Amino acid sequence: MKKVILVFLALAMAFTFVACGTANNDVKPTDEPKTEEPQKLVMATNASFPPYEFVGENGAYEGIDVEIAGKIAEKLGLELEIVDTEFGSIIGGVQSGKYDFGMAGMTVTDERKESVDFSDSYATAVQVVIVAEDSAIASVDDLTDDGSVKIGVQQDTTGDIYASDDYGEENVIRYKTGNDAVEALKAGKVTAVIIDNEPAKSFVAANEGLKILEGAYAEEEYAICVAKENSDLLDQINTALQELTDDGVIADIVEKYIPSK
Ligand code: GLN
Repeated sequence: MKKVILVFLALAMAFTFVACGTANNDVKPTDEPKTEEPQKLVMATNASFPPYEFVGENGAYEGIDVEIAGKIAEKLGLELEIVDTEFGSIIGGVQSGKYDFGMAGMTVTDERKESVDFSDSYATAVQVVIVAEDSAIASVDDLTDDGSVKIGVQQDTTGDIYASDDYGEENVIRYKTGNDAVEALKAGKVTAVIIDNEPAKSFVAANEGLKILEGAYAEEEYAICVAKENSDLLDQINTALQELTDDGVIADIVEKYIPSK
């Protein structure tokens, strides 16, 4: 009799295990949510570069790059986090993995390509020269390296690199932001500021007594930078950029900040 009970108990236990096993198997898929917390995509920028990136009236980051980045993150199912840093620390931070990507109206240059990889370009730009409205400098050709002209730039930007090459480092004064360079121009500390055309237009619109000289100083293309080993992210960014271009999303964002009329 004892044996029969034992066998019965053993069978009952075995059945329970099987039953539990089955139940567990049934719930397993919902037990393993893949997106407990949305993963972050960290963008480094320099938010003093309107209309690409700037701090809006309510204190939030705004601009063409900010919105395009938001759409890319959305496509990747990631939450966008924006870090505002000096322009010159973006590439190093991307290289070290501190940031996933850099997007800051950043011009593609051969030298930068040695440190990071660039996405397909999403915008073209030109470097222009801002001077005081009553300036004696009438055209880009009036800029010289004879020491009579001091040029303000945002440090580590292409404006800085080209101006230093063309007019000598001793004639170039480097500021942390484009806005600081423009303030120096207003205060008469520099004769001209070399900066990208769209921020130049924003700065001239926001400050009285300044004008942009006719003619482009240099032409360039903007792209997103990622670490060299991060080709998966680069591919995903390029796919997203292509889709956003095809769907007219990028054109709409650009139109919002740079109205064609
Ligand atoms: N396009 C310029 C560069 O890449 C300036 C960018 C910026 O100041 N945010 O150097």
